[in-house]
Amino acid sequence: MATAGRAQVEKALRWIEENWVGQKECAICGNSGWFMGEVVGEMRQMSSRPKWLPNTGQSYPMIVLSCENCGYTLLFNAIVLGVMEG
Ligand SMILES: [Zn+2]
Repeated sequence: MATAGRAQVEKALRWIEENWVGQKECAICGNSGWFMGEVVGEMRQMSSRPKWLPNTGQSYPMIVLSCENCGYTLLFNAIVLGVMEG
C-alpha cells in the first residue's frame, strides 16, 4: 500500500463531494458518516492459472471510503480521482 498524504486525501474528498450526487446514506446501516484514511489500497487482477491465485502484476490503486458505523466500504479508482498518475 502507498500513503496518499493529507493533500491528496483532501483532493480525493473534494472529488467525491463534487461527484457524489446520489444518496449518501450507507446501503447497509443507513448512517451518513464516512471516513477515508491516508492509505491508497490496491485491487489486484486474478490469474486463472493456476486456480485463481492473486496475480503479482499490475493492480488498480484504490481510495477506500468506509462507513463510520458498520465499516461498509466504497472503492474509488485513485487515478480517476486525480490522486495518482496512471
Ligand atoms: Zn454502514
